Amino acid sequence: MNKILVVGAGFAGACYARTLAEHGYSVAVIDKRPHIAGNCYDYLHDTGVRVHAYGPHLFHTSNQRVVDWLSRFTDWTPYAHKVVARLSDNRKLPLPVNLDTVNEFFGINLESESAVRHHLKSISEAIPRIRNAEDWLYANIGKELTNVFFRPYTKKMWDLDLSDVDAAVVQRIKIRADRSNLYFPNDTFQAMPTNGYTTLFSKILDHARIEVSLSTEFDKKMLDHFDFCFNSMPIDEYFGFKFGRLPYRSIRFHLTQHCIEEAEPHTTVNYTDDGPFTRETWWHNIPDHWDGKSAQVLRSVEEPCDYRDNDDERYYPVKSSDGSYDRLYEKYREEAIGLAKMNFIGRCGTYQYLDMHQVINQSLSHCQKWISENSNS
Ligand code: UDP
Repeated sequence: MNKILVVGAGFAGACYARTLAEHGYSVAVIDKRPHIAGNCYDYLHDTGVRVHAYGPHLFHTSNQRVVDWLSRFTDWTPYAHKVVARLSDNRKLPLPVNLDTVNEFFGINLESESAVRHHLKSISEAIPRIRNAEDWLYANIGKELTNVFFRPYTKKMWDLDLSDVDAAVVQRIKIRADRSNLYFPNDTFQAMPTNGYTTLFSKILDHARIEVSLSTEFDKKMLDHFDFCFNSMPIDEYFGFKFGRLPYRSIRFHLTQHCIEEAEPHTTVNYTDDGPFTRETWWHNIPDHWDGKSAQVLRSVEEPCDYRDNDDERYYPVKSSDGSYDRLYEKYREEAIGLAKMNFIGRCGTYQYLDMHQVINQSLSHCQKWISENSNS
């Protein structure tokens, strides 16, 4: 077993390709897009601003193995992401909900973490069994905060009511009783790859035993030329949607140019209204994302939609509270067990809503395991 096909040049595919190449395998990486780096792809705009073409990718983790592995291919620029939520009266409050959010929202003046915890408890509902995102939020921050900060945004994002969304989706947002206003308050490592993600990916894929072909669609006939395939394409598409389509949300990005005086001081502003847009990102506020030579900067506004309405660009697997889409995925996963020469990998191959560090960690672990199990064949 020596020749491996990797479908997809995002984080899953790049981690597999590099690990396999370093263990002596010859690896062909194909990607249907004209660029590497999957949804992490970034580029330098004419204004001198670095833009992430598929939305903000803010690197954060507490997993030192992931940091160590990536650090072989990039230096890091420290950056701890912060977000504010814009209310209907235009006030901008910290998100995740923290001590300052509670004080400003309710017009009170709590000073300690215990006072905030006590207040949140007093406005929360007693819910014996958490069945969905609404239950979890009602049980932790109460109805009023939920209905302003989470209900409209979630409806726009998923086209689902909070009660139909899996609790894990909103549990990504860590509620704080202190003044920490970091979006990822619990992660020990928060930084951006210096020179961007695309450069990082080109270094990961720069190996004598890796060959990359872009603008290349996967075709089952390719398998004849390889001993094994790690495939990050959508698993339902591979099987011709025989059990039905797995739903994904996509994002349309509206990129506009502004003079620096018009810009927000915040990198990301989330919208709490019930219009079509969820958030805006001002790229120049991320360190090393603007050379400052022009007085022009860029803003991306995000408009979620069904992936079928955005050229089949799949971004987010939909995690419903009744688990129906996970059950549909299970059917495809069971079908895939019968494939002797292929494993599905990554977000679309395994239908998981994963952060970058989670994809990298899983990919490194699974690839190492596969190599040790196949080392004698
Ligand atoms: N969310 C929300 N309001 C916000 C931010 C997030 O209701 O202002 C909910 C929404 O359902 C969203 C989920 O929390 O999909 C996870 O948010 P996160 O910012 O982690 O999403 P991502 O950055 O992956 O798009």
